[in-house]
Amino acid sequence: MTALAERIKGRIRSEGPMTLSAFMAEALFDPTEGFYATRDPIGAGADFVTAPEISQMFGELIGLWCVQAWRDMGAPPRLSLIELGPGKGTMMADMLRAARLDPDFVRAARVFLVEASPALKTVQGRSLEASPCPIAWIGAVEDAPETPALIVGNEYLDCLPIRQFLMTPDGWRERLAGLDPDGERVAYVLSNAAPHPDDVALIPESLREAEPGTVAEIRPASAPLAAHLGERFATKPGRALFIDYGPAQSEGGDTLQAIAKHEKTDPLAEPGGADLTARVDFAALADAARAAGLDVAGPVTQAAFLTALGVEHRAAALSQKQEGAERSKIARQLFRLTGDDQMGALFKAICLSSEGLPAPAGFA
Ligand code: SAH
Repeated sequence: MTALAERIKGRIRSEGPMTLSAFMAEALFDPTEGFYATRDPIGAGADFVTAPEISQMFGELIGLWCVQAWRDMGAPPRLSLIELGPGKGTMMADMLRAARLDPDFVRAARVFLVEASPALKTVQGRSLEASPCPIAWIGAVEDAPETPALIVGNEYLDCLPIRQFLMTPDGWRERLAGLDPDGERVAYVLSNAAPHPDDVALIPESLREAEPGTVAEIRPASAPLAAHLGERFATKPGRALFIDYGPAQSEGGDTLQAIAKHEKTDPLAEPGGADLTARVDFAALADAARAAGLDVAGPVTQAAFLTALGVEHRAAALSQKQEGAERSKIARQLFRLTGDDQMGALFKAICLSSEGLPAPAGFA
């Protein structure tokens, strides 16, 4: 049992069960033992693999998407290119390499990285050593200068902490991280009292009158993020592109999952030892964005998005310079990114923009 698990249990003993969002925050970002705080978990030999790590094509197409988006905004001479949760920095490195096709874009862009993990900041610094644009780390998206902005985040929203509510015959009750009857292990428990009406208001409307037994998830950080983007993009033009896994319409269900060494594990068993994520409710995000005055494009599937941006042509161009084994590797990468039972259908892209900009590429 780790010291972090002992600390969490101690806190539950003295303060009572904690929300799943508090548990997730501790498990992921405790400064000494949190999953992200201490290590680089991304890659074939580590815990999980993401789209930019599967193929350079992913970041390259997003780089070209950014150039187009900057042109759509009238090619402003200063641009904040902000990435939320940049992981190893691979996507940004691939984006900037592709964006070099437009030297004016590269001259305008200053890169800002929002990363909570000290370990990953080090990796990002190395990946971006040869960046053609200045790179800086900021504590939060709000800290980026008030210039026109493009914001990207791949598998960022899924690690923002969630809370869960279970519909019971007596109405909604929150699912919390408490202790099992022996007081030995962290286990799901239900709150005795009804949740605060402000919390119930965050449950997607289509689920609010759900059948007993239904679990509804909310992601408290998502509406404030949409509100910030609404304010920022009302003052200066901008758009944000998020790619993540989850349904286009709100669905009930417990989707909190833990992944360690590419295997699913018990989310509560080993805080700090596994990545904790939950699917993104794109309908809820789109609603929050519209309420904040943003134009919303999508969600569309990752397959549709990448195909519209020309991933097949990019794969063909890369293959042309290669021999047999490399060629089949590129074909496999394309399949992993776009195949229906791979990442193609479960993952979605959504774009939130200042009102009145041209429709973003990839969302036709
Ligand atoms: N975008 C990368 C990494 C995805 S993993 C890729 O596609 O490979 C999630 C990333 O988000 C990690 O870099 C993690 O440290 C970061 N992250 C998670 N929650 C965060 C938060 N609240 N603030 C800043 N970064 C966060």
